[in-house]
Amino acid sequence: MKTRSVKIVLAGLAFAICSCGLAQTLDPKSVELAKTVPIADIHSHTYILNGPASADVVKRMGTNNVRWAGGVGDLRGDIADALKGRHIPAAGQREFAETFIRQGPSALVQTENVYFRDLFRDAHDMFAKGIIKGFGELHTNNNPSGPPAFRRTIKTDNPVIRKFYGIANEFGGFVQLHTQHNAEFTEDILRLSADFPNTTTILSHCLPLAQPEDLAYLFKQRKNIVCEMSATGELHNRLARVNRPGRAYSASGLRPRWKALIEAFPDRVMLGSDTCCGWDAHYDEAITEIRTNFLPYLRSDVIEQVAYKNAIRIFKLDPEM
Ligand SMILES: [Zn+2]
Repeated sequence: MKTRSVKIVLAGLAFAICSCGLAQTLDPKSVELAKTVPIADIHSHTYILNGPASADVVKRMGTNNVRWAGGVGDLRGDIADALKGRHIPAAGQREFAETFIRQGPSALVQTENVYFRDLFRDAHDMFAKGIIKGFGELHTNNNPSGPPAFRRTIKTDNPVIRKFYGIANEFGGFVQLHTQHNAEFTEDILRLSADFPNTTTILSHCLPLAQPEDLAYLFKQRKNIVCEMSATGELHNRLARVNRPGRAYSASGLRPRWKALIEAFPDRVMLGSDTCCGWDAHYDEAITEIRTNFLPYLRSDVIEQVAYKNAIRIFKLDPEM
């Protein structure tokens, strides 16, 4: 009788956990690997204004076994010098932000804008010399997924974004976009990635507002669309004082639909810290959250792809760094 009631209680408990969609049995191999696997952080902000010192970037990477980092702005020579082959240098974020702050959202689509002029003039040369590998983070629609004063909604397929894609296309580069899922964006990104097949689109935060099925749809249509998982757990919500559970994972694990997406497209998903917004002091927490609440829930072979092997392929990084 006692055993039976325990069984009933356990069955009820299992159902309760399953009904919130997070219960999973962990593979001990995945748990171990998640603790130590090298990481490529492809959403690593190094702002010029109030950003981290290059020595601190090297230190935080060492502490967390983050071997490669970058993918977003600001582009800084001291960071490039400190990281050398471990760096994924990206331009355009500073110019994009400056345009928005000084002239407003309508100026973001004007290629002749004074804030884009030098970058468009120099970008070919910078790619050729290896000073940049792509552009980002470019915010076309961060409403409501950005700080209130920084929000804007512009069409993603616009002349400026097209120009970034065109230049990147000549060098097999990338454009990292922070935008949100909707029908217009889906049309825009499918058109851009078809018109510029050598440009890899990186969707920051795996496209806020998108469901895993929306990403699966894009991944199926185009080989040159990938995404990165920063700010999809609980930490960034907590830091932003947003009372919301993690979008893809939390302390109770990875949501099954996200696990299914990542394991169906293991070559399309990467990792990022995104300590934007004055959160550099939380870098260790951001990586620990990934190693604790996200990676252990993936198949062990997928963990390595997501953690760094995809980044090595996409950014042509030195695997021995
Ligand atoms: Zn960011």
